[in-house]
Amino acid sequence: MSIHHPEVVVTSRIPPFLTTGLQENFVVHERDHIRDRQVFGRVRALVGGGESKIDAAYMALFPALEMISVCGVGYDGIDVVAAKKRGIMVTHTPDVLNDDVADLALGLLLSVARKIPAADRFTRNADWLDGPFQLTRKLTGAKLGIVGMGRIGQAIAKRAAAFDMDISYHTRSQRNDVAYQYVANLVDLATQVDYLVAITPGGAGTKNLINAEVLKALGPQGFLVNVARGSVVDQTALIEALQKKTIAGAGLDVFVDEPNVPAELRKLDNVVLTPHIASGTVETRKAMSALALANLAAHFAGQPVKTPVPECRT
Ligand code: NDP
Repeated sequence: MSIHHPEVVVTSRIPPFLTTGLQENFVVHERDHIRDRQVFGRVRALVGGGESKIDAAYMALFPALEMISVCGVGYDGIDVVAAKKRGIMVTHTPDVLNDDVADLALGLLLSVARKIPAADRFTRNADWLDGPFQLTRKLTGAKLGIVGMGRIGQAIAKRAAAFDMDISYHTRSQRNDVAYQYVANLVDLATQVDYLVAITPGGAGTKNLINAEVLKALGPQGFLVNVARGSVVDQTALIEALQKKTIAGAGLDVFVDEPNVPAELRKLDNVVLTPHIASGTVETRKAMSALALANLAAHFAGQPVKTPVPECRT
């Protein structure tokens, strides 16, 4: 073991670019393959993706832990309160993924509205020989409600503006730096719009934010897109709304218990499903990896980290 290279544990799947960078600069262990008990006493950082689950009990295994570097913007699986109590720095990778997540949100909006995956299946199956594809719904000019107007919400709005969409949003506090219409009540927003996109953080504060009442308000002509976290939507209520067609359809990149997607959801033809790929391009995963590594490098050089989570900013 090198005395110069700090020891880190990789706690969940990370991009190959990050694995390579870690191997060049650290002694790397994998969460489920630590055989030597003494390693626990030497580990100074944990590194994982946005879906990492790191609670106080897990942190307690590492008495020398100084830092948790998340390669992702969402860090709802990390017990930041417990980390702060121990003086452990938590970093994430905001901004570098805004474009990709917003692109996928627009892709899902177009996919559900125009039924692109169903039309693809229809063409491949040669169903066209029996007659034309069903008519779909128009995206350009429609009313869009965005739940969450942070970095990514604004990137979605910018793209939606190019589709001449009538944009309004819901957050806990109104922003004074965007011109879109603010709607203080989420049910009111859902009532007003044709398309509702969820792009808030996950965690306790947003659990089941999009509930049965919000879905009812969205109504039989309304579509939901979720690129936030599975926990933000009441998945049971959503499945029921889709089955009973009390909403028109949904485009989902995230689910409650990934990678398990309920069979009821997979059976429906009014949904478009993607496997949590919103930031999953080569370019963006490289940028996220570089930022996660830069945070580690800064910390171990005694410099301020580049992108601490808000709770760890001093
Ligand atoms: P930001 O912190 O910039 O923005 C979060 C927004 O959500 C803010 O506008 C905030 O406003 C709002 N918000 C927070 N809590 C609530 C609430 N209870 N009700 C309504 N609005 C709320 O985050 P980003 O835009 O950078 O990222 C958002 C999330 O997107 C990430 O945390 C992650 O969960 C998800 N994500 C998903 C990806 C995927 O692969 N599908 C990839 C990347 C991110 P206010 O505080 O005023 O309420």
